[in-house]
Amino acid sequence: MENLSTLTIGEVKQGLKEKKFSAVELARAAMQFAEAENPKTNAYLSFSPELAEEAAKQVDAKLAHGEDPGLLGGVPIAVKDVLSTKGVKTTCASRLLENYVPAYDATAVERLKASGALIVGKANCDEFAMGSSNENSAFGPVRNPVALDRVPGGSSGGSAAVVAQGTAVASLGSDTGGSIRQPASFCGVVGVTPTYGRVSRYGLVAFASSLDHVGPFARNVSDAALVLEAIAGRDELDATSAFAPVDDYQAEMRKPVAGMKIGIPKEYFDGLEAETGDKIYAGLEVLKKLGCEVKEVSLPHTAYAISCYYIICTAEASSNLARYDGVRYTARAEAAGLNEMYSRTRGEFFGMECKRRIMLGTYVLSHGYYDAFYLKAQKVRTLIAGDFSNALADVDALIAPVSPFPAFKIGEKMADPMQMYLSDIYTITGDLAGIPCMSVPCGKTAAGLPVGMQIFSGHFKESTMFRLAYAFEQAGGVA
Ligand code: GLN
Repeated sequence: MENLSTLTIGEVKQGLKEKKFSAVELARAAMQFAEAENPKTNAYLSFSPELAEEAAKQVDAKLAHGEDPGLLGGVPIAVKDVLSTKGVKTTCASRLLENYVPAYDATAVERLKASGALIVGKANCDEFAMGSSNENSAFGPVRNPVALDRVPGGSSGGSAAVVAQGTAVASLGSDTGGSIRQPASFCGVVGVTPTYGRVSRYGLVAFASSLDHVGPFARNVSDAALVLEAIAGRDELDATSAFAPVDDYQAEMRKPVAGMKIGIPKEYFDGLEAETGDKIYAGLEVLKKLGCEVKEVSLPHTAYAISCYYIICTAEASSNLARYDGVRYTARAEAAGLNEMYSRTRGEFFGMECKRRIMLGTYVLSHGYYDAFYLKAQKVRTLIAGDFSNALADVDALIAPVSPFPAFKIGEKMADPMQMYLSDIYTITGDLAGIPCMSVPCGKTAAGLPVGMQIFSGHFKESTMFRLAYAFEQAGGVA
């Protein structure tokens, strides 16, 4: 069998077709490899061997009958532990849901299954997806496979790490303020945040519903596009999911990029570490050589993005997390009366970051502060979205860094939440605007730490973004 740790979706399909291995053999080998490697990174919170084996048997049976095994037939995939998986624990990396077993699948998971994917296990993350380093997991931090003393980014740190480490071929994550792109950039893999509504949120445990996106991680652009194709599209179970048809990404991304117009938002190059900046500039040179026109643009409300995001996301989180009251779900603290039980359960089982956000969110929604904070933030959000529409009226896509710096050391930013929040400065705007954005590997620093280049395109124009990313990757990217 080929080296599992570098296998791509194309290679899995080829291997199955040529009978180099069966799906069951692959499922077993992948499971064994993932379980053996996991202690190094703590990227998986649990494994689902029965699920993978059962799916593999079906893929083998289809292949034996000459049937199509599906878009992701036989591909080992990991799922962030905030996506509900029927019969498999979904903890959200929280002690509150430590033993919670959903009775249904998230739509994205159901679609993975329907396309023949082998679900290997659930990936670690920050508790309820709140964080930028994966250090807020109640079950321990994830180590970055590229440099084990560093964070993999967050909140989908486990999903990025399994792909970088080679213990899954692809994975699903969620992005509310950068949680797919930032870990993808820290771990040197491709991470895609689709347009808001492109992928159903049904069964995604809600953090901030107006900002939550489900999206893929993979080792290359084509694989990421394939996973997105499998999970995208209208879903009756999520009223915010879009009716817009899903493009044929595999065909669209192969179209030439010569003549495409790229905007460089000047505000995204302030406060950037020099080495990261150099890599992004080198990436732009590659695109220029491919015939793209590059010009500077401005997104003038960028400076307000972090304040705006941390008001809206905490407001929505405070409401979404109200359901964890000790009555439903798994954790309940001992107490004499009902009110005491509520407060003890929430006090004992929520981690610090969740509590901080519940308090902040409750405050900004309270009488007398609602207009001053929450309503104001919603207005600012509209201005930020307007910045993108104005810029994208003139150019096809925008290119920027993903993070101002590469992966930092475990523990380095934990003492100062403001510092941690600032690491999302270039990613949260995309979520606020609801436009598609992604991180594509763009070289490594002298210390060997990956840098990610961010691409933004207009609503439902994932194809435009993939086209640039694919051409960039095919041209060899940046060393
Ligand atoms: N790091 C950001 C936060 O802590 C984004 C998290 C996310 O996208 N889920 O909210």
